[in-house]
Amino acid sequence: MQVNWESIIQATYEKVKDLDDKGVVASYIPELVHVNPDSFGVHLSTIDHIQYGVGHFDVKFSIQSIAKVLSLSLAYQIVGDKIWTRLGVEPSGTAFNSLVQLEADKGIPRNPFINAGAIVISDILLSHLKNPKDDFLSFIRSIANNPELDYSSRIAASEKSAGFLNVALCNFIKSFGNIHNDPSDVLDFYFDLCSLEMSCRELSELFLFLANNGRHLSTNKPILTSSQCKRVNALMQTCGFYDESGEFAFKVGLPGKSGVGGGIVAVHPNQYTIAVWSPKLNGKGNSYKGMRFLEAFTTESQLSIF
Ligand code: GLU
Repeated sequence: MQVNWESIIQATYEKVKDLDDKGVVASYIPELVHVNPDSFGVHLSTIDHIQYGVGHFDVKFSIQSIAKVLSLSLAYQIVGDKIWTRLGVEPSGTAFNSLVQLEADKGIPRNPFINAGAIVISDILLSHLKNPKDDFLSFIRSIANNPELDYSSRIAASEKSAGFLNVALCNFIKSFGNIHNDPSDVLDFYFDLCSLEMSCRELSELFLFLANNGRHLSTNKPILTSSQCKRVNALMQTCGFYDESGEFAFKVGLPGKSGVGGGIVAVHPNQYTIAVWSPKLNGKGNSYKGMRFLEAFTTESQLSIF
């Protein structure tokens, strides 16, 4: 099917841009408020090398929890299926930073995309990488062919100064034996991962390997096996949107992941990736306009996975 991406994206953007945005910029990480609340960008990358962006698609923003997909990918590449002895694959049905299920589940987080799960993934990476912070950055730079991707020390320090709940989560999991390293090292690495900054263009390019069966788009080298890629996409579909994952599947119909910086990236296997950024969040912590845009986009293009 020949798709006129440009006209669909442009028309959808125009429709959503002037909506009354009922969202609120996240402020529990103090530095996140220093953003233009009216920013709104969209960028699409297809596996046939079509690229199209509109609005603030080239402005870097804090990707926050979207980084959890990348840290999972590297940990999965390194340890394979043994990873699932340390965490589950079920939607949690609770807030992203919730402590409540961990006691009953004996320190095994429900999935890799809630904070507890991403903290365990950070611990796994710390155990396997020589220089975790540099090695992880090299991993994503090589996937994206983009040496400009980087952490924000400002955002990481800001989260560290206020991240008491994450400190509690990490120590609680440690008490069950599911954190192997020093909790303060694990948390420092976790805060660094969450502080990654990139634009919608960079984000959609970076995620193309998940639309390409786990293979690097230009070299065709495997980053994940096709089975691992299927599973990462399945987890994004079921757990990628906090307590709104069912609604995202229902309205948008794509695997994806959001972050409290207001970014969302969604993947259509074998077709395209699309990244949206608008910092005001709805009551469930997902970008208000980002959700509205993607719903209208897959409806208009008829290109959801369902
Ligand atoms: N660094 C954030 C936190 O741990 C990530 C939250 C998110 O984007 O969901 O609270």
